[in-house]
Amino acid sequence: MTDRKDELAANLAKVERRIAEACAAAGRSRDEVTLIVVTKTYPASDVRILAELGVRHVAENRDQDAAPKAEACSDLPLTWHFVGQLQTNKVRSVVGYANFVQSVDRSKLVAALSKEAVRSGRELGCLIQVALDAGESGRGERGGVGPGGIGELAGLVAGAPGLRLDGLMTVAPLTGEYAGREQAAFERLMDLSTDLRRSHPAATMVSAGMSTDLEQAVTAGATHVRVGSAVLGVRPRLG
Ligand SMILES: *Cc1c(COP(=O)(O)O)cnc(C)c1O
Repeated sequence: MTDRKDELAANLAKVERRIAEACAAAGRSRDEVTLIVVTKTYPASDVRILAELGVRHVAENRDQDAAPKAEACSDLPLTWHFVGQLQTNKVRSVVGYANFVQSVDRSKLVAALSKEAVRSGRELGCLIQVALDAGESGRGERGGVGPGGIGELAGLVAGAPGLRLDGLMTVAPLTGEYAGREQAAFERLMDLSTDLRRSHPAATMVSAGMSTDLEQAVTAGATHVRVGSAVLGVRPRLG
């Protein structure tokens, strides 16, 4: 194996062990949690190695980087998740490669995603991004809608042609009442997911937890963890 492949294999094994141990501690089956590797800022060659190592879900947060990477990796059996703040002028490009958009947080974006999904004949999985630092009805600084806005957006997604409402996503907040309380934040997201599933039973995905807090997310009940730096290394620049 190449040095990089050795390095990624070792990192993946460590992350896999962490997920397995967190599942065991929480009395959950390992197959209840899907690992999504966040490949932002890293090259297509790394994505290819990850696919060789068995990774099937990858995520990106900027269309400019993601579009050429997804194109270069279109021969690989990968599911692509878009997890970044999404401007409507990038929607056409993103719908071209993404299987899931996890950062749905406003009605204008729902309309644009629906239009492009229909136009391209694709069905797009949508997660509503919840901001737990925004107050009930505010908006997060890094995207996301406050808990009070979930119901309306969920209804819009569920009724939009070409879109499928799959669940909720959050990033542990750095400010507000949940700052430094990842476990509590993820438990709140689980409660919101339970509420959502009363009217949308198929919206079962709960995407939470990153390199530093994946255990807390698994303990709370997350179905998907999004792990970047623990697999690929500390990013050379903010992304
Ligand atoms: C970058 C990113 C991650 C992964 O973060 P790490 O700390 O590198 O694991 C997860 N989710 C989102 C939305 C991100 O932007």
